[in-house]
Amino acid sequence: MTTRTHCLERDAQDALAPLRDQFDLPAGVIYLDGNSLGARPKTALVRAQHVIAQEWGYDLIRSWNSAGWFDLPKRLGDRLAPLIGGLDGEVVVTDTTSVNLFKALAAALHMQSVETGRRVIVTERANFPTDIYMAEGLTKWLDRGYSIKLIDSPDELPAVIGADTAVVMLTHVNYRTGYQYDMQATSALAHAAGALIVWDLAHSAGAVPVDLNADGADLAVGCTYKYLNGGPGAPAFIWVPKKHQAAFQQPLSGWWGHAAPFAMAPHYTPTDGIGRALCGTQPIVSLAMVECGLDVHHQTSMAAIRAKSLALTDLFIELVEARCASHPLALVTPREHARRGSQVSFTHPHGYAVMAALIARGVIGDYREPAIMRFGFTPLYTSYADVWDAVEILRDILDRQDYNVDAKRDAVT
Ligand SMILES: *Cc1c(COP(=O)(O)O)cnc(C)c1O
Repeated sequence: MTTRTHCLERDAQDALAPLRDQFDLPAGVIYLDGNSLGARPKTALVRAQHVIAQEWGYDLIRSWNSAGWFDLPKRLGDRLAPLIGGLDGEVVVTDTTSVNLFKALAAALHMQSVETGRRVIVTERANFPTDIYMAEGLTKWLDRGYSIKLIDSPDELPAVIGADTAVVMLTHVNYRTGYQYDMQATSALAHAAGALIVWDLAHSAGAVPVDLNADGADLAVGCTYKYLNGGPGAPAFIWVPKKHQAAFQQPLSGWWGHAAPFAMAPHYTPTDGIGRALCGTQPIVSLAMVECGLDVHHQTSMAAIRAKSLALTDLFIELVEARCASHPLALVTPREHARRGSQVSFTHPHGYAVMAALIARGVIGDYREPAIMRFGFTPLYTSYADVWDAVEILRDILDRQDYNVDAKRDAVT
């Protein structure tokens, strides 16, 4: 049986443990919500002060060139690319995940409907809502006979992807359950039926190894404010591989994607390469923070992060099942490593109230309908002792029924 001493021993041997010191986390908090908003790298404060005081305040408009503001989406994209199996010139950090998904879907539909007449988007009912909503908006407003087919389980994909499927749009790691798709096999399945595949990496980038080029993905988008620690609302990313860049055309044809933005021409001509995925002027202060999270990631490897992530999630599952065995908790996250992201979700009939009680005692996770308590594990700043302590607090809350089933519904985000 694992003890707290065992956990402390594992922390002492953990090669990633020193990285925790690069984050500012409040005392008395065990932060298990880095899957929703990553913790703040210490350098972000210094960087923000520099961008605001020096680049904006003193250098003013000259900073578009002298501070590299124009190139920032591409420069950060090149730094992010190795974490997801992309190449230089295949990623830009820009806009939001929702907006990038709109561009990627529209581009994929255009590539398909021009050549093959295919017009159906296949996705999951259990997808993060904005992904479905953006597809709905696109099919409604770019009214070209596009439609959406929702599946209820990954098992349905082989039967549902067919001759009318233009694009399969899936989230690699499910936000609610932590289920992880086999990217290579699923991409191959789509291709075998003549469809393209767009992956949402919101819960993957910086959390699990991703190899977009090797796994045959077509397009991808994702967040920087979750496991990449870019800051609240930090710009997202979009990946367009070299093989698709010439055919990639998207409807948000703003001047940042123009071949000659300062020619001020009255018509749009997309630039070559990944730049055509850009739209307009970027939130530079927020964008600059993304680099601070990437700096930490580049001090280790996705393999090391993954190994610790699986160790942390295995430990959490083991301890909850052993120490809270008398309570009605049910694991919804896959036990199989290959199918598990970097989170663990348990249902409890009073999940909302229990999570509110956990947060009141400094264990910050979150809650998702229906009845799901979600715990994110970020190997850069979560220790094995944190896992032990979080489970002990959970056990204590459950044993003493120290939660309020009438908890107000704004205690948990
Ligand atoms: C977090 C998340 C988003 C967030 O999109 P925003 O545009 O940043 O609000 C989108 N899709 C998935 C799958 C997510 O997990």
